Amino acid sequence: MGKWCVVKCNCFEPEPDLPSAKARNTDCSHKGIFLELWPGDLIGLGYGIEDAFGKASGFEFFTKIGDWQQYEDEYLKLSPEDAQLWELEIEQLKRYLSGEESMGWHERRKWDEYFATHPPLYSTINEILEDGLNLIRASQKMSRPIEFFW
Ligand SMILES: [Zn+2]
Repeated sequence: MGKWCVVKCNCFEPEPDLPSAKARNTDCSHKGIFLELWPGDLIGLGYGIEDAFGKASGFEFFTKIGDWQQYEDEYLKLSPEDAQLWELEIEQLKRYLSGEESMGWHERRKWDEYFATHPPLYSTINEILEDGLNLIRASQKMSRPIEFFW
């Protein structure tokens, strides 16, 4: 199975994947899935962040998403609370990338080098950050975790 990322909808209580779950709304138009996407470029961004800023950089969730060792049986879950903290990382990165805040000379050089040799496959970095924000908004709206499958 390829990498995948999903936020389930909350039309089911208490958990959509429990056999005893009953649909609150029997015609859930989401088919249980509120938002899903391929997280390959998000994971790649995690690698780049770790390369430029190091592991203890404050980008805890980005480096987690990009580190398969943080996955349990190829599965990683960010709670809605985690998602809120991840959003702060995205906002920080946006300030760096817009030049509103300086990421540091050393980090900038490593960043440029990394993404010159490992460009994202399908999206620009800004589009990848939008994917992240969409996942976070979905998680908040549904009160559901963001689930990553490696
Ligand atoms: Zn639904």
